[in-house]
Order: sequence, then structure tokens, then C-alpha cells
Amino acid sequence: MRTAVIADIHANLEALQAVLEAIHELNVDEIVCPGDIVGYNANPNECVEIISGNRIACVLGNHDACAAGLEEPRYFNPLAQQAVLWTRDALTPENRQFLLALPRERVVRDFVLFHGSIHETNRYILFREDVTDNFHLLSGMSGAPALGFFGHTHQRTILVERQGTISASLSHDKQDLMPGSRYLINSGSVGQPRDGDPRAAFAIYDSADAFVTFHRVAYDIHACQEKIICAGLPPKLAERLAWGR
Ligand code: ZN
Repeated sequence: MRTAVIADIHANLEALQAVLEAIHELNVDEIVCPGDIVGYNANPNECVEIISGNRIACVLGNHDACAAGLEEPRYFNPLAQQAVLWTRDALTPENRQFLLALPRERVVRDFVLFHGSIHETNRYILFREDVTDNFHLLSGMSGAPALGFFGHTHQRTILVERQGTISASLSHDKQDLMPGSRYLINSGSVGQPRDGDPRAAFAIYDSADAFVTFHRVAYDIHACQEKIICAGLPPKLAERLAWGR
């Protein structure tokens, strides 16, 4: 089974379409999303409809939760807050319903999907304590999966736990999955990368051959930027796409 992982799409239709085209060439059986379909960029309805129309297994992200009215964006920075409130107004009732129905985590066969941290959508996996907690919580999940995919930081991350020792893998394009080790992996962001590379990021998990590969694809950033400006969203949200920050 080959699974494409697309995280943090953030209403960037151009990036999502480019990623789906690239995935189409890579012989994939299914697509999953660790959350944040909407927020920041200007095509929330189109992106939700692609996810719902293609039956892509998805979990709720923090921007999805605020845009759907499930939570208030009190802890968001001003730009993110402005964008999520714009999104709340822009969403159709059907698409809001779709977001409201998303689970916060989801076990798919031998892996789990979640957004920020297991059981905590808004918490980043940044520090050692966050990593330790999440590996601990992974053990308690149904079927005790050895692999989890998450989002939220918009940075490609590969965390490995082997016999109680945790490390960050520095693998670039391919991570082999070893029996007896557990992995928490962030594929990077489709719609707002923050690692200095403006290209859209995604990953492919091959369960038969036990590896994850990481991919980048260029997309029409200019078109997405123009839509942000036309929508009256903060111009800084358009500028940052060009820098991948
Ligand atoms: Zn996000």
C-alpha cells in the first residue's frame, strides 16, 4: 500500500493541485491529511471540496477548528487570526459541516494521523518533552501503531524512538522504517512551507517496502498571492509564500 501524506494545505489551491498532480505520477493507492485544510490563503471552499470529494482521510487542524467555529483563535497571531475569521465568513455551510465532523485523530491501519500532538490539536511537537509525551501517547492508541503522521509546525521532521532512545533523523529524501523502531513524521506543508523552500511539500509512505519518501513540487505562487490580495487578506501572507517562511 502506498499512501500520500498531505499536511497543512491552508486553502492554497494552486499548491494542492500541483501536489495532487505529482502524486498521480507516483503510483499511490490513497491520500491522507493530518489537518489544516483551511486558513491563511484564499481558497478554503475549493480545498475542502477536493478533500471531501476524493474521500481523503483527514483530521481536524487548529485552523480548521477555528474556521468552523469550534474554537476561538485567541492564541493566534494577528495575521493568522484575521485570516481564520475571513475563512469563517467565506466557508459554505456544507464545508463548515465537513470540518466540524472531522476527528482529531484517526488510526488508519498501521499508522495514526493527528495535527499538533496526540490528544492536543494545538500543541506543537517542538521540544524534547513534546516528543517524549507523544511517543508515550502513541503506545496507548488503538493497535499501538509504530508510526504517526502529524503537521502544525510546517517543517519536515522525522523523530525516531528505538528501545527508549529518541533521536531526530536527518534523512533528506528517504527514511527507511526499521522493525522495532517507532516514528513520528511531519511531511512538511503543502500550502505554507516554513523551511525556506517555497515549494509545496508532501510524503509517500510505502508500507510493503517500509519506507517514507519526501517530495517537493513547484506551483504557481504568483496566482495564489494575487488571490490573497484580491480577497483583502493581509499582504504579508502573500509575501511569505515566496520565501517559504
Ligand atoms: Zn498549519
